[in-house]
Amino acid sequence: MRWQSRPGERSPCPGYHRRMPGFLELDGSMGEGGGQVLRTALALALVTGRPLALSRIRAGRSRPGLLRQHLTAVQAAATIGDAQVEGAEPGSQHLVFQPRRRRQGSFRFDVGSAGSALLVVQTVLPALLVGAGEVELVVAGGTHNPSAPPYEFFARAYVPVLQEMGARVECELVRHGSHPAGGGCVRISVRAVPALAPPSLRTRGPCSARRGTILLANLPRHIALRESAVVQARLGWQEAEIEVRDVVAHGPGNAVLLEVQHATAREVACAFGRRGVRAEEVAGEAVHALEAYLHSDAPVGEHLADQLLLPMAIAGGGTLRAVAWSSHARTNAEVIARFLPLGFTAEAEAGGTVTVTCRPGAG
Ligand code: AMP
Repeated sequence: MRWQSRPGERSPCPGYHRRMPGFLELDGSMGEGGGQVLRTALALALVTGRPLALSRIRAGRSRPGLLRQHLTAVQAAATIGDAQVEGAEPGSQHLVFQPRRRRQGSFRFDVGSAGSALLVVQTVLPALLVGAGEVELVVAGGTHNPSAPPYEFFARAYVPVLQEMGARVECELVRHGSHPAGGGCVRISVRAVPALAPPSLRTRGPCSARRGTILLANLPRHIALRESAVVQARLGWQEAEIEVRDVVAHGPGNAVLLEVQHATAREVACAFGRRGVRAEEVAGEAVHALEAYLHSDAPVGEHLADQLLLPMAIAGGGTLRAVAWSSHARTNAEVIARFLPLGFTAEAEAGGTVTVTCRPGAG
């Protein structure tokens, strides 16, 4: 089966903004319809300099509109792009974003809750990769959140691909922050390069390393030991391959991080402890997430696939083979094709993997 992005497709946008020429109008409820449409659209408004009018932001979600984490992403994008913004208020489903120039220097943003700091970083990072100048970002918030990239995924799965494409990005975990207490912090340094090389991620090669990390903040150690036992039993890993780390954080926190490295690929699967869920179940979720990768031969995991589409588009093309083609990935491809003169195709293969290709022109 073949999926293809539809270039130049228009979606209805109520006349909230003043319909200035050049504005790109986007329906924020398109596709997956979550915060990702907002973040990808902001990233591309920064990359292209094109003003953006976004309507129906997160319209289908139980708490629609802009939440704290989304507002921090807007604030970060507005600061980096010296943008004029309308509609950046809690709960707002409309946003007008008009970038003026790319700023350089050091910036600090604070989600002010346990909302993901890494998702804020991923909103502005694409625009900092190519061009000129240096930026240092310090973002406070959650570093280990459900439904978002945990720091280890960002640092050891996502950033390495950017570096292989020629990007100059360094990152550091300053302090752990889990849901619901937050209080984490990450630091990212980016030096822009003239261009990125299109990625070609087709195979993963043999497995060269594997490791488990169980993070524990302000919780009893038996939780981690029970999680470690599940990982050992289900994956056949040795006790010595699973590190239990007590970390300093504002509140309680528990993350099970399972990482595999191949010659040309990496994956970090995770699950997070939460009230009312037994440690064994949490570890089982992490194992289940890693098994999706282990049972496939594609180099790119499901989450990494949707996150690499933007860097690919900035590089002007590329190919990746992914474990799955998610609704997040499809939506990202559609948003990108609205901004840039390129298209994505996704060819499903036997075994459920998919080859995603990004090319200049229509998809
Ligand atoms: P949204 O649901 O629209 O806020 O987007 C969530 C983003 O977080 C997507 O880019 C997902 O790929 C990413 N994400 C969710 N869970 C994980 C995970 N376990 N590891 C890495 N990335 C994740």
